Amino acid sequence: MDMQRCAECGGRLEEGKTCNDYFQQMLIWDFEDFTGAGAVHHLTVLCYHVQHPATYSKKGLEDAKAFLTEFVAKKRFF
Ligand SMILES: [Zn+2]
Repeated sequence: MDMQRCAECGGRLEEGKTCNDYFQQMLIWDFEDFTGAGAVHHLTVLCYHVQHPATYSKKGLEDAKAFLTEFVAKKRFF
């Protein structure tokens, strides 16, 4: 299987896939199972966007980092 790399985060990708493809799949799992994968939806979204910061403004990115830091520091995983 050929592997490619994401131009933004450097993650390894299956041929023809993008990180956004995987992110969209994770969102589907979040909404299919609110108490399972969906319980960490806030972390899923923040982690994806911190690794793909082009989707945020400079302030949005700083806010996202602050939220993620707060969630992890206060162990607010659910
Ligand atoms: Zn990526």
